[in-house]
Amino acid sequence: MEPKTCVVTGASRGIGRGIAERFGEAGCSVAVNYHSSAEAARAVVSAVEDAGGAAIPVQADVTDPEQVELMYEDVKEAFGSIDVLVNNAGINQDVFFENMTHEQWGAVLDVHLDGAFNCTQTFYDDIVGAESGRLINISSIVAKGGNLGQANYATAKAGIFGFTRTLAHELAREGSTANCVAPGFIETSMVTDLPEEIIEQVREDTPLGRIGDVEEVADVVAFLASERSSFITGEVIDVNGGMDL
Ligand code: NAP
Repeated sequence: MEPKTCVVTGASRGIGRGIAERFGEAGCSVAVNYHSSAEAARAVVSAVEDAGGAAIPVQADVTDPEQVELMYEDVKEAFGSIDVLVNNAGINQDVFFENMTHEQWGAVLDVHLDGAFNCTQTFYDDIVGAESGRLINISSIVAKGGNLGQANYATAKAGIFGFTRTLAHELAREGSTANCVAPGFIETSMVTDLPEEIIEQVREDTPLGRIGDVEEVADVVAFLASERSSFITGEVIDVNGGMDL
């Protein structure tokens, strides 16, 4: 991957952190977005710098357009225009549908869908104006197969497919691309907090027999962010060890 200027939402830990560090290894300038984990975000900034990149921490709740606008101003001041936006910030609030409240439904849709809308809307002109602008959205295997207790999450992540494919059409007119990465079960707190018997079941259901590493997702994102992916747009790339929910 060539050195680019990138924004990664939800980069204070987990997959977002892995993506930010991978961008750092490529000499990129990275805006490390977080919601509440300021100290963790500062540690990611140091890790990106140690890897050879430049980075700033940028706080913003992606569900709030005003906070996203302030993030944009911080990024602009530090790095100028950006080339790559990775919509990665995410939460889950798992509960069987019969017990799911409207708040649990809305909270998850807000972060994944409104968050992607707000950030993409705000950085859209930058992506269009970049020589090879890239929009990369993180969805999930759950968007395809559904999953017990995840009606809100699966709905949001399936929405990201339609969002990505539509943006791919619209950005193509400007020579930029939009793609989606759909991870399976990856070793972050979103998975390691699950009961051990569920994690064991996931291993059994995964042909490669294990949980994935954040680096395995980050490498695919880095490819999609690079010039090497120049003729790929509107795609969903699975990174799931062969799992078929
Ligand atoms: P994670 O470890 O729980 O990290 C979530 C990140 O999102 C944190 O940096 C958090 O920031 C940020 N975030 C949450 N709400 C936010 C908000 N309103 N505004 C800004 N940032 C917010 O999650 P992960 O496992 O790395 O997941 C990253 C993405 O991959 C998510 O979209 C998730 O749905 C997707 N995914 C994960 C897996 C998996 O197996 N782990 C599989 C498929 C897809 P703070 O720390 O500041 O709260």
